[in-house]
Amino acid sequence: MEHFFDVVVIGGGHAGCEAALASARMGLSTALVTLDARKIAEMSCNPSIGGVGKGQLVKELDALGGEMGKNADYTGIQFKRLNTRKGSAVQSSRCQSDKRQYALRMQKVIADTPLLTVLEGEVKALHVELDQMRGVELADNADGRRFSVAAKAVVITTGTFMKAIMHCGGETRAGGRIGEGASVGLSDHLARLGFTIHRLKTGTPPRLRAGSLDFTKMEVQHGDQPPYRFSFSDTQVALPQVPCYLTYTNEQTHQVIRDNLSRSPLYSGQIKGVGPRYCPSIEDKVVKFPDKNRHPLFFEPEALDSDLIYPNGISTSLPADVQEAFVRTLPGCEKAEFIRHGYAVEYDCIDPRQLKKTFEARHVAGLFLAGQINGTSGYEEAAIQGLMAGINAALQVKGEAPLVLGREEAYVGVLIDDLTTLGVNEPYRMFTSRAEYRLSLREDNADARLRPHGIRIGLVNPVDRERFHVKQDRLKLATEHFKKAKGKPSAEADAYFATHGTQPIRYPQPLYHLLRRPELSIDDINRLFHVELFELTGEEKETLEIEVKYEGYISMQRDEIARLQKMRDYAFPASFSFEKVKGLSTEIREKLIRNQPKTLEEAARISGVTPAALTTLVHQLRSGGPRV
Ligand code: FAD
Repeated sequence: MEHFFDVVVIGGGHAGCEAALASARMGLSTALVTLDARKIAEMSCNPSIGGVGKGQLVKELDALGGEMGKNADYTGIQFKRLNTRKGSAVQSSRCQSDKRQYALRMQKVIADTPLLTVLEGEVKALHVELDQMRGVELADNADGRRFSVAAKAVVITTGTFMKAIMHCGGETRAGGRIGEGASVGLSDHLARLGFTIHRLKTGTPPRLRAGSLDFTKMEVQHGDQPPYRFSFSDTQVALPQVPCYLTYTNEQTHQVIRDNLSRSPLYSGQIKGVGPRYCPSIEDKVVKFPDKNRHPLFFEPEALDSDLIYPNGISTSLPADVQEAFVRTLPGCEKAEFIRHGYAVEYDCIDPRQLKKTFEARHVAGLFLAGQINGTSGYEEAAIQGLMAGINAALQVKGEAPLVLGREEAYVGVLIDDLTTLGVNEPYRMFTSRAEYRLSLREDNADARLRPHGIRIGLVNPVDRERFHVKQDRLKLATEHFKKAKGKPSAEADAYFATHGTQPIRYPQPLYHLLRRPELSIDDINRLFHVELFELTGEEKETLEIEVKYEGYISMQRDEIARLQKMRDYAFPASFSFEKVKGLSTEIREKLIRNQPKTLEEAARISGVTPAALTTLVHQLRSGGPRV
């Protein structure tokens, strides 16, 4: 071997960046190998971070010591809290990013990280001996020269690049992203190693020149002031904040699309890969929702110093002339100039059920996979997988216990469990509805849930560690104070309750009880009852309010989680035979045989497995039996 590293990460996308940073920050010599170093942390599609369910992932990544949240704060050009009129459990953050600054800042962080080396080239093969990862074989970008790099662990994060084909109308080209090539040898190599390979598809809209659009015909959309940051560290929103614009498709747009469906590679049968159902192309929206006479489109700037507009909502692989025709039917786009046309990309990914919950391959020790290669879609889903794979690769090399997070602990736990137990049959993205305990898995408490893990594995720096402990202490003190201090009846308070149609208070009450009232926030209590309160930050107030107002629900969830924890203690030994368990229906027995749950909790999550069947399984486990 010509080079040696503890960990090699293949791919410089969102998963690769986090994996490489985690491994190097945990003290291991790390190589990040990528096809084009200038494209490290490139946003292949929408210039934004976060969104419903995804914002939670970014906050969790930040709490564990990842970089995406910080990078998003420093390079965001519009921040918005989504679902603010809905319950706390589903509120999520999103920011519009300066695409160029996002990539440049991440590249600088990587360049400045000790122990981390970037190698440009294509990984062509993996060196595996006796089911143990030994290293990779690279083809140098400059001269194609092949050389080997030895490693104790390898993390593959090749995104949409394996055997990638781009489609725009009838035209096809090899490549994982516009202007870049495809990764050709790797997926065959993975197949030879025993991985099942699936074919998926995603797509992107055209990019338009801002100067050619008439924004006065669209609705202006401003971000939140002050912006709600992603990071729990002391980051700054450093860039100027800019608006986006909202416009809609119309009957004419839909007619142009309907008239040209036969020229769409999606409908002509040219594209075989399965696309994301929740993020359909515009041709799919028109076909699948014929009753809708308009679809909203958000026009988002790609960067502060760029003239490129990203029209969010019209991802398409229709031919270039059709794209131009339908875009020019949109209000404000009559004279739209195209910088680039939209396209779809088909790519290979693996079956994530072949991975352990650490993202290590079940059948090759030291080989980890993360990101879009595991069948997911989205920067945030990729980044958090990269972080977890990088952490676990590093822990393995150091000979330490892995970090596995459960569904009740984090959205990333939900994601890992869904991928590794259920697999995917379309690109997987995170939604709040995937989490059973979403009232406990909120953005605001991601640090309370996960910072201790980040601190334990050494990914949180001393300043952030101190900041975390100070915040937790302050929250504890504030809660105690709220339980002790009382608000007294007053004319001002009576008037406030009267305007809300609620009962006034007749005698002094602990602030804690008052805060349970839906019509009272901490700021209201402060104003109405003139009690001395702690100076709490906006984030601290949010956490305290939710914890008090939803105390009943949250404690029910905690009981449920404790019950689950107990079920997890019931593990089925490898020799356990579901076939021989008596007293189960044939249907349930078949489901158990097919899914091979490892614990009682996993069995409980198989649809159709009843409480009675679980009781039967508990009895069987207690009596040690039945064996294969
Ligand atoms: P990528 O970001 O794809 O990065 C892969 C990296 O691996 C690249 O740096 C590449 O150079 C490197 N690489 C590949 N093969 C090799 C090799 N053999 N050797 C060395 N390096 C290699 N997500 C959304 O959430 N919404 C969308 O609307 C959306 N649309 C998309 C449209 C398009 C056209 C594309 C391409 C992607 C889209 N995505 C979308 C997906 C999003 O880009 C990915 O989810 C995310 O970038 C995946 O991150 P990743 O790190 O797994 O891989």
